[in-house]
Amino acid sequence: MRLKVLGGTGAWPDAGQACSGYLVEHAGFRLLLDPGYATAPQLLRWVRPEQVDAVYVTHGHPDHCADLNPLLRARALRDDPPPALPLYAPHGALDVVLALDRPGMLDAAYHRHDFEPGDSLTIGPFEARTWLLPHSKPNAGVRLEADGVVLAFTGDTGPSPHLKELAQDADVLIADSSYVDEVPEDERGTLFTAREAGRLATEAGVRRLVLAHVMPETDVMAALQAASAGFAGLIEVASIGLEVTVDAAAR
Ligand SMILES: [Zn+2]
Repeated sequence: MRLKVLGGTGAWPDAGQACSGYLVEHAGFRLLLDPGYATAPQLLRWVRPEQVDAVYVTHGHPDHCADLNPLLRARALRDDPPPALPLYAPHGALDVVLALDRPGMLDAAYHRHDFEPGDSLTIGPFEARTWLLPHSKPNAGVRLEADGVVLAFTGDTGPSPHLKELAQDADVLIADSSYVDEVPEDERGTLFTAREAGRLATEAGVRRLVLAHVMPETDVMAALQAASAGFAGLIEVASIGLEVTVDAAAR
């Protein structure tokens, strides 16, 4: 399994940056996780629009799904449009982004598979387990497994007992690390810190940790330091172009 990071910034894309977005490839299948703001141009550096086989969206905030619109346009507005793109997202999460264009314009470009967080899904070669995690919109954290290799992705979340289950023994955990040490009071319980991500990685026996959704202007070294206080394994910060092999070699 291969992971390509399309962006790592939380909330909005800072200069030259992109928000959440990950391309996961296994057995020739390409799954796009969370096409957030400004991730489409990054995605298209790696693959053509028709080469994406499915999309999974954790929740309906635009920093996790806004660039679904340009991806669908790039598929629909061509002379030979590819088959409808399967979209997996919590019920209703994509209603707004799919309504950006005039009614009907993109209808043939996608096929919705709305689900209830907690459902298990089969997406190409991936078995996906999902959990409802605490956030200001329903957020479906996901654990992807294929041929015994596990990639876990929290989406945006506050602390939750489900996180340990989601991340248990994962080869790679992509964890919300919006803040370094402390979540501001008005968002407490709905977002996570790098320090908490490090602790979670140890509790769950994760092999490799990727800090994600880091707020613009965050001191990245401080985030790494906070996470490493609780986790002795390899830690990276999600950033454009980071490539990670997710397999037994990461153990
Ligand atoms: Zn969010």
